[in-house]
Amino acid sequence: MNLDLLFRGITVLTMDDARPLLRDAYLGIEGRKIVWLDTKAPEGTAARTLDAPHFVLMPGLFNTHTHLGMSVLRGYADDYELDTWLRQYIWPAEAKLTPEAILAADALSLAEGIASGTVSFTDMYFHEPKMAELCLQAGCMANLCNAFMCLTDEYDPNTDRAFQELQVLTRDYHNADGRIKADVGVHGEYTSFPAVWELAAGFAKEHGLNVHLHLSETKREHDACVAKYGMTPAALFEKYGLFDTRTTAAHCVHVTDEDVEILAARGVTAVHDPGSNLKLASGVQRTEYLIKKGVNVSLATDSACAINTNELFYDLKLAAILHKGIQLDPALLPAAETLKLATRNGAYAQSREKESGMLRVGMDADLIAIDFDKPHLIPCHDVASSVVYSARPSDVALTMCKGKILYENGEWKTLDIERIKYDMLHVALPCVTG
Ligand SMILES: [Zn+2]
Repeated sequence: MNLDLLFRGITVLTMDDARPLLRDAYLGIEGRKIVWLDTKAPEGTAARTLDAPHFVLMPGLFNTHTHLGMSVLRGYADDYELDTWLRQYIWPAEAKLTPEAILAADALSLAEGIASGTVSFTDMYFHEPKMAELCLQAGCMANLCNAFMCLTDEYDPNTDRAFQELQVLTRDYHNADGRIKADVGVHGEYTSFPAVWELAAGFAKEHGLNVHLHLSETKREHDACVAKYGMTPAALFEKYGLFDTRTTAAHCVHVTDEDVEILAARGVTAVHDPGSNLKLASGVQRTEYLIKKGVNVSLATDSACAINTNELFYDLKLAAILHKGIQLDPALLPAAETLKLATRNGAYAQSREKESGMLRVGMDADLIAIDFDKPHLIPCHDVASSVVYSARPSDVALTMCKGKILYENGEWKTLDIERIKYDMLHVALPCVTG
């Protein structure tokens, strides 16, 4: 065996039910793949050997609902209700953002996410072909869309920037380097209408693309849809074909029991964004009910102007403790189960489950190392519990995607962090404050 990298003496939280945890193990990487994972040493040589008894290796995190270009608005308008927040603050500020400003914010968010263990993002925002280039440079994975959004019923696809970007993403970037996927985005029921949904669903089916949308985030939006169409947003989207390919539905806070049956039957992923939903007072997703009914639930931060961070660890812990407190049941969402939301279930949401989301020979080397040699991680009685309840984003010592190290020991290997910080302050920020 000629390995590129061999981790030696490590603990591995595989997320593979066949053997969830290995101690004092060896994990070998050749090219993009995990080619060795065992408590026995492999035969042969390794270009680099990393002796790391204090490292816990686990699959990299999947942040499955982001608006990464919005990090320029981190802390810009906190403590407002969603509708007021969007219409009075966020949308007017967004209108001032130049493509360069959005790209600068994208880069900062990627740097933040990668350093805190995220290997893949499901992003919905503007200028996504440029974002695709940036992700290829950064070396991470991303499912990207500029979502259809049209507040009047005068819709012309020929002049719609989102549709143009979708066509470019699909033609030039879909499956690029096994890292990028084009998604078809629909911002939401309340920001579009049936002709747009038919166009989006038709394009997704024609090109075999996933769909990414917001679904029943607030009670107000959900109830207004029922009043307008006589149907819930989930039933309406199903009727117009938006669940005919694999769909990622962000939030799903106010979905009904009937909606949950639809999501389960159609393989729709319900994204749990606990931090964003709490801070914007949108409510709390019935995550344990969705899981019980067979819905794939994944995890996300939502935008950094909603929850002020692109680091998924906070939502990981929130997801694990929130439902226990509300349902008065400490057995809900155990740590290992919650970790699935951020790994395997995220890979499924992005249609990457065959190659990513768990550590097993033959899977891609999309992984992170968490440094357990920290006071707040000692002792460790249960590795999954320590990761969920005690670990911090800054405990991530290494982030790797497709065998390539993107971040190690405080250094970004693919991104110029000083340039990124400068561009945020001198290119992006003046658009909002200038
Ligand atoms: Zn969102």
